[in-house]
Amino acid sequence: MTDRVIRGLALDGRARAYAADTTETMRELQRRHGTFPVATAALGRTITAGAIMGAMLKGEERLTVRIKGDGPIGQIVVDAGADGVVRGYVDNPHVDLPPNDRGKLDVRGAVGEGSLYVVKDLGLKDPYVGSVPLVSGEIAEDVTYYFAKSEQTPSAVALGVLVDTDGSVRVSGGFVLQLMPGIAEEDIAGIERKLEELGSVTEKLDREVPLVDLMRELVPSFTALDELPVTFRCRCSRARIDSTLIGLGREELESMLAEQGGAEVICHFCSERYVYDAGDLRRLIARIDGGGAGGEEPETGETKMES
Ligand code: ZN
Repeated sequence: MTDRVIRGLALDGRARAYAADTTETMRELQRRHGTFPVATAALGRTITAGAIMGAMLKGEERLTVRIKGDGPIGQIVVDAGADGVVRGYVDNPHVDLPPNDRGKLDVRGAVGEGSLYVVKDLGLKDPYVGSVPLVSGEIAEDVTYYFAKSEQTPSAVALGVLVDTDGSVRVSGGFVLQLMPGIAEEDIAGIERKLEELGSVTEKLDREVPLVDLMRELVPSFTALDELPVTFRCRCSRARIDSTLIGLGREELESMLAEQGGAEVICHFCSERYVYDAGDLRRLIARIDGGGAGGEEPETGETKMES
């Protein structure tokens, strides 16, 4: 099964529904970042939320979901676009916590208290920025709160990752159901009842219940309109990392050259390593001197330097 978001309508168009399977994407991210189970769950839930929110955009539009709490995982960052391309990372992939009181992965404990930010690049001069305080730290509740508070759209959100005993990803996915104005009270009550009965989304994905059937269990009138393939891809490249290093300035590059004889840059989003030897650094310094520092847009704030 390939990863995707299906988009559809229900209740005579008074509800919009999105359901996502992000299993392959999360397997790739788990492998790249070496996330431990609780970090895999936290990142996977955010990836699913990001992929679905990306599927709400159009054309070249992109968004970043950033969950910044005071817990040991640090921040969780996910980029997604209307094209279905997603990437993401957590600050501390090796966070390791005992199970919570329900015997589940303690995502809330890993995230802590803080805020959820959504930055949308809609091709306008300034990006749209929305933020809400974290109300739960379990992510689905926080995304629900964001939709209600920042976008004034009452929504039901389920996000889940099933992590196998060996730490690999069995399934990852979820759904967002958004209620439009004019929806009848009895329809809302019906959805609330179904939500309670529905049970775990990951258990259904694990049984290979198709996304359309999953949504029909929740709202029988669901009709799929289309589907968006979801894939992991990072935007980093050697040229962009060159620009990042050049942006540090001549002095910084010279001290790297003198002290370390080179540099190693790791992309946060994909854990790709870019190694610069002394000759590479000298060439970058020469580009600063030659005024030819332009080139690719740098990967600002998305890379970490290692020496
Ligand atoms: Zn990258």
